[in-house]
Amino acid sequence: MSEAEAKQIERMKGLLAAQQSAFRTERHRPIDKRKADLDRIADLCRKNADAIAEAISKDFGNRAKQESVIAEIAFVIQDAAHAKKHLSKWMKTRKVGVPMTLMPGSATIRRDPKGVVGIVSPWNYPFQLAMAPLVAAIAAGCRAMIKPSEYTPATGDLMKSLLAEAFEEDHVTVITGGPAVGEAFTKLKFDHLFYTGSTQVGRLVAKAAAENLVPVTLELGGKSPAIVTPSYPQGPAAKSIGWGKFFNAGQTCVAPDYVLAPKGSEKALGEAIIAVAQHEFPEAASDDAYTAIVSDRHYERLNAMIEEARAAGAEILQPEHDAQAAQAARKIPPTVVINPPEDSRLMTEEIFGPVLPVMGYTELDAATDYVGDHDHPLALYVYSTDKTEANRILDNTMSGGVGVNINLLHLSVPDLPFGGIGGSGQGSYHGEAGFLTFTHERSVFRTGKWHPSRLLAPPYGKMYETVAEKQMS
Ligand code: NAD
Repeated sequence: MSEAEAKQIERMKGLLAAQQSAFRTERHRPIDKRKADLDRIADLCRKNADAIAEAISKDFGNRAKQESVIAEIAFVIQDAAHAKKHLSKWMKTRKVGVPMTLMPGSATIRRDPKGVVGIVSPWNYPFQLAMAPLVAAIAAGCRAMIKPSEYTPATGDLMKSLLAEAFEEDHVTVITGGPAVGEAFTKLKFDHLFYTGSTQVGRLVAKAAAENLVPVTLELGGKSPAIVTPSYPQGPAAKSIGWGKFFNAGQTCVAPDYVLAPKGSEKALGEAIIAVAQHEFPEAASDDAYTAIVSDRHYERLNAMIEEARAAGAEILQPEHDAQAAQAARKIPPTVVINPPEDSRLMTEEIFGPVLPVMGYTELDAATDYVGDHDHPLALYVYSTDKTEANRILDNTMSGGVGVNINLLHLSVPDLPFGGIGGSGQGSYHGEAGFLTFTHERSVFRTGKWHPSRLLAPPYGKMYETVAEKQMS
């Protein structure tokens, strides 16, 4: 650990103490203040949109402003507006029924802020994946410390200065640093820890949180399949899958990771997907609309996956491109791999890049069995014009979320909880689900000074017998 990292770790312990103390002085941030907080988040996004998009592009080596606006900046603005609009309903104390035997009395559920929360974010959408959990935490009335990814330092530094202008340090703060800082951060005794990143690090985070019994949300990765059924026309399937896969050059947690298509149709579907990519990014490597791979490590990892499949005899489809220009720009052209071996890296690891295996299946049941034989994916995409068939696929599988005849955009529907299950994570956020993640639903049973339950205490008599008999019936 470097000296700077050691200092950063000491600093963050002090910040946690300051936030905890500030939270105790205002356990119930009033709704007007929360709304003003949400407005400040939306404002900083609007006012600094260019700077945010530039920082992200610098971190990636190239990312189109259009992608950053729609998937990161506007997303957070809409998220904050949605939370503000529904906040008073979300914050309301709920009344629930009281059984006859416990009457008279009232039972309610308060929605109390958990306290000081930690947010650990990854590099692939470095702004949105830190700010959307922050929106949820702020709506819930919490204070938050954010630890962004070290792979996107320009975005991390900008977020740190923008949030420092908008919030007091004891309300929202950003801690920058690498894995050592991340590890120390996740060992802090937060009131909730919200982690987005790889499954591998997610395991370590869950262990660190368990040491302190800190409740944890894990937004992890995995291999999200797209099942194309014979009923669905190939052109629209290729258009939808090609768009979702090559957006941000496939560096999206819910990008279709691989396609299961009826046997015999794999190559035609693959060619149609490549045609879509060619239309969207005519210049491939030099096209500014096409995002670069975030780091040399990931660039090499993706190339190694392609080469392994090629060596195993799988057919590789790519649009015509200038290989040298692509390498210089750290870009991997849109790539489809037809039927790579099931034990290849392409079919056993999350791809997280613009490389798409298309696998043939004989029966739909074989396709759903294949999905069921692996970790539950973060998303499952079904392309079918037959609602019964689509529902049958959903009945026979499990995943964090689902898109039917569409991909990626289920996460933009604000009232749909977003999260994984099992290997792809636990817990969820967005909309009210996010508010609830950072809220403790606190049960309150209220009675008057005298309550008939007192009659149930020993020495046991007639009243006890009557009530017990009723409860046992
Ligand atoms: P990563 O796990 O390498 O890093 C994520 C964060 O964890 C970073 O801030 C990093 O500094 C920190 N970290 C690293 N080591 C740590 C440790 N030992 N203890 C605590 N923190 C540590 O993930 P990544 O490569 O940045 O992101 C890619 C992964 O994230 C992919 O698997 C992707 O699918 C997943 N992802 C999931 C979602 C989702 O919403 N479910 C969204 C985006 C990305």
